[in-house]
Amino acid sequence: MSATIISGKAIAKSVRAQIKTQCSALAQQDIVPGLAVVLVGEDPASAIYVRNKIRACKRAGITSFAHRLPAETAQGDLLALIDDLNADDRVDGILVQLPLPVHIDKDAVISRVAADKDVDGFGVASLGALLAGGDGLVACTPAGVMEMLRHHAEATGFSIEGKRAVVIGRSVTVGKPMALLLLGKNATVTICHSRTRDLAAHLADADIVVAAAGRRELVHGDSLKPGAIVIDVGIHRREDGSLCGDVHFDSASKVAGAISPVPGGVGPMTIAMLLDNTLRACKARRGA
Ligand code: NAD
Repeated sequence: MSATIISGKAIAKSVRAQIKTQCSALAQQDIVPGLAVVLVGEDPASAIYVRNKIRACKRAGITSFAHRLPAETAQGDLLALIDDLNADDRVDGILVQLPLPVHIDKDAVISRVAADKDVDGFGVASLGALLAGGDGLVACTPAGVMEMLRHHAEATGFSIEGKRAVVIGRSVTVGKPMALLLLGKNATVTICHSRTRDLAAHLADADIVVAAAGRRELVHGDSLKPGAIVIDVGIHRREDGSLCGDVHFDSASKVAGAISPVPGGVGPMTIAMLLDNTLRACKARRGA
């Protein structure tokens, strides 16, 4: 069997086009969504992520407000900036790029972001709303995975309902919200993690696999159920500079029914869903 490719790149392109159309419509009402992006320090990967997010905003018709602070910024100063952004009516979404320098309490910063501007969906209020089954802002990566599954379902008639889903990884930013979103679509969900005893036994039964362990090529084709839908969240750079995911693509794509590649899979979806969250926050805040 050769798997269908679920192209996050193509799906993200269509999501971004829809957002752009909606931003143009809002502009007719003199409403321009705004995203504040806060970067503390000079981590090179973070600087690239921030640059890509700002570029994506511009293309979509979202104004971005970039705040680049030195690594030695005091926590109090960062919290004061967030208070200002919470109060700034031009700002609909606030994103604090992680990781933060070690002297800063990440949780204190994340929880300072107003719930209605929490476009990363990492705050306790956003996570609580997800747990309660509400329609708050959802973390961009798991939201992007759901959008990929929705597209695949539309194209093939596949349904998440009643399927066995295995999420590998239990982080607050990816694994846990991912599991809740799949549960919200009536999948039977198992969360596997670093202390799971027999990952292969869980995978053997899984109709849907979302791999977010941060372990290079952890999932091989021989542990998958034939026909499974596999979404690879992981991203790793090989010694030769090429990228790969948590899934061994060559072997998995021979067994899976559908699979997302790395690169061109979940990565582009994460940025697209950030724009989507910013637009949603804008509409909710401004009653548009
Ligand atoms: P994390 O380190 O916070 O969490 C990893 C999780 O995987 C942990 O819960 C751990 O228990 C589990 N795990 C580790 N080894 C395991 C193993 N051998 N078997 C089963 N479970 C195991 O990482 P994260 O922030 O959730 O990110 C996970 C991966 O996704 C990373 O590769 C990260 O780079 C990638 N990521 C990609 C995007 C994107 O936009 N494409 C966004 C976020 C994260």
